[in-house]
Amino acid sequence: MRIIVAGGDGFCGWPTALYLSKQGHDVTIVDNLVRRKIDDELNSNSVTPIATLEERVEKWEELTGKEIQTFTGDLNHYDFLREVFRQTNPDAFVHFAEQRSAPYSMIDREHAVYTQSNNVIGNLNVLYAIKEFAPECHLIKLGTMGEYGTPNIDIEEGYIEIEHKGRKDLLPYPKQPGSFYHLSKVHDSHNIMFACKIWGIRATDLNQGVVYGLHTEETKMDPVLANRVDYDGVYGTALNRFINQAAIGHDITVYGSGGQTRAFLNIEDTVRCVEIAAENPADQGEFRVFNQFTEWFSVNDLAERVQKIAKEEGLDTQVKKIENPRIESEEHYYNAVNTKLRDLGLEPHLLTDDVIRDILRVAVENKERIIEENVLPSITWK
Ligand code: NAD
Repeated sequence: MRIIVAGGDGFCGWPTALYLSKQGHDVTIVDNLVRRKIDDELNSNSVTPIATLEERVEKWEELTGKEIQTFTGDLNHYDFLREVFRQTNPDAFVHFAEQRSAPYSMIDREHAVYTQSNNVIGNLNVLYAIKEFAPECHLIKLGTMGEYGTPNIDIEEGYIEIEHKGRKDLLPYPKQPGSFYHLSKVHDSHNIMFACKIWGIRATDLNQGVVYGLHTEETKMDPVLANRVDYDGVYGTALNRFINQAAIGHDITVYGSGGQTRAFLNIEDTVRCVEIAAENPADQGEFRVFNQFTEWFSVNDLAERVQKIAKEEGLDTQVKKIENPRIESEEHYYNAVNTKLRDLGLEPHLLTDDVIRDILRVAVENKERIIEENVLPSITWK
């Protein structure tokens, strides 16, 4: 298949592009490299040193003989996107290219507006490009489990059957997102659903859990192929952030009481889920939703697990509860369905102690790169 990976220079996109290329697909990366500029804005960095996109794809070709074409540009620039579609005529468009930090979207008005315009308009442009230039192309869009929030009932995969005043219907599952970033994903989902209905586009919305880990088989092949790993209070996701705190002997900081429960998956499963979606496309006109995660944990569970492994590795670190910078329930019901990807063949890589240990060892190897003042939250929801 000819597959575009938009956001292919990022944490999920880069390993996905390599994996799909290895599987024999003709992969094109589209990225405006804004995530690298945001590192400069936040005075932050990836724990692992990352090569330029040009160096990365050159190394991949040198090692495997497989070419990954790249287009550097912004999905918000329709002239650019049109040209990408004209030159590549994709069978699938994997869309990772969004601003994905909830805290970043909550910094101030400018960052909220940037997040929503970047994400919502970029995605709308992709929908128009598919309609105009590649109507058969399957949109595989990264959404998030955070779209659902934490309702006091089970979370279904996209749709819920409702009986109301004696009548029944299958309706989109209610969304109660917790940040302007998560809201942008809900807006995207609505736009995609509508485009499927009116234009007959085929789309899969992957409501992804929090991704942890760093390596995949492909990114391990050479240091130039290394994936980025965020650890700071803005982009670092819960488990990766705790592990990096432990690596420098910092307290593992839990927001509030720590009962917040979230769905998680290993980066090795992210790449496989995208492949499964690509190989089993939605029908024309279908807006399909998969919940893309393998396990769920409370923040307290994760903090304790990291502390235990850190201790075994000779690192003395304490779990510390700090004031929650977010507005969210700290104790709540959580039970989410995730059978669709499993039914299509996903075999999960679960969070074992060895997985935590591997990530911790990489963090320790690179600990001089960790900027200590960045590991604490600096942005509040109020
Ligand atoms: P990332 O920030 O590492 O990568 C996103 C990439 O997209 C970056 O390389 C960035 O430069 C690029 N980009 C952003 N806006 C763009 C635009 N307008 N045009 C072109 N390129 C643009 O993020 P990630 O962690 O790889 O996340 C990828 C996707 O997965 C996001 O949509 C995110 O919402 C979703 N997701 C991520 C997680 C997670 O835990 N990382 C969890 C759930 C969902």
